[in-house]
Amino acid sequence: MKIYYDKDVKKGALKDKTVCIMGYGSQGHAHANNLKESGVDVIIGIRKGASMDKAKKAGFEAMPPAQAVKKADVIMVLLPDEYQADVYKNEIEPNMKKGSYLGFAHGFNIHFNQIVPSPDTNVFMVAPKGPGHLVRSEYTKGSGVPCLIAVQQDPSRDTKEIALAYASAIGGGRAGIIETSFREETETDLFGEQVVLCGGLTSLIMAGYETLVEAGYAPEMAYFECLHEVKLIVDLLYEGGISNMRYSISNTAQFGDLTRGPRVVTEDTKKEMKNILNEIQSGEFAREWMLECKANKPVFTALTRKGEQHQIEEVGAKLRDMMPWLKKGKLVDKSKA
Ligand code: NAD
Ligand code: MG
Repeated sequence: MKIYYDKDVKKGALKDKTVCIMGYGSQGHAHANNLKESGVDVIIGIRKGASMDKAKKAGFEAMPPAQAVKKADVIMVLLPDEYQADVYKNEIEPNMKKGSYLGFAHGFNIHFNQIVPSPDTNVFMVAPKGPGHLVRSEYTKGSGVPCLIAVQQDPSRDTKEIALAYASAIGGGRAGIIETSFREETETDLFGEQVVLCGGLTSLIMAGYETLVEAGYAPEMAYFECLHEVKLIVDLLYEGGISNMRYSISNTAQFGDLTRGPRVVTEDTKKEMKNILNEIQSGEFAREWMLECKANKPVFTALTRKGEQHQIEEVGAKLRDMMPWLKKGKLVDKSKA
């Protein structure tokens, strides 16, 4: 696997180019600020509302999407995936200059043909392997978050240079830029978030919590054991992998890990993971999610609400109030992005 660093990036590939960042949310605010501080000419394409106010407050030239696209050479689409196709059709495509570079931070819409750009458009991806706030905070520390790049269409024959220069300007070249394809990024990203990172983890936490509470243990104890302490373990995994984590925990914990873990995540669980991967690869998940959005997200809304009303949320809020340090340096700052 080829990894690129700042030294491999052609300097000045973005010179004389205006980059339009579409959306000023998690990724949008991070890309825009990092690019600007790297000397790139940035404008923001955003509908009127809270995000436009934030972008203007941060000192950007922010305007409605259609107007911004007309001025831009590079258009980076950092809108929620489910709105991108509409905004593309109504605001981007009719206003895009010929030979523009169209960028994405996730391959979903291109890979599943929700957006089909004309053959004379250059299409690339720069996908930071981290949420926007980390892309921003690592950059300001002089570091960066690793990025994936991919090129889907390259009529201008220099789209990879543009993608590398963009990834470098948001800090990716300080950590490493990995080349992939739209297909690989999209399918592995969906699989990871469904099976391990978001879906798998939240279901594991809830099942553990409910088991303890149903057995008569205090909900507070169940919260600490099954949710709060996940962070301590994940920090060890993040720092040095699974053996590093096992080195740090007690031998008793390690014996329980080695002998009981495989009884929780079984061959059946893995079989279901394969089913989920098949649904991603066949486009079935994409179709279900796009239809859900067309229907105004009834399942999404109901399940989100059900999750918010679970006892673990109530107990958690109470316990976190006892730990005021959790609020310092919060990762999620709803006022900024
Ligand atoms: P977000 O929800 O944080 O922000 C979206 C922005 O788009 C907001 O500024 C919102 O006001 C604006 N917006 C929404 N609908 C709009 C519309 N119809 N017209 C104009 N503007 C509109 O989104 P995000 O999490 O930053 O995701 C952006 C892209 O980055 C997605 O493709 C996502 O898959 C990808 N990505 C996200 C992360 C992450 O951790 N959040 C990581 C890697 C890649
Ligand atoms: Mg991901």
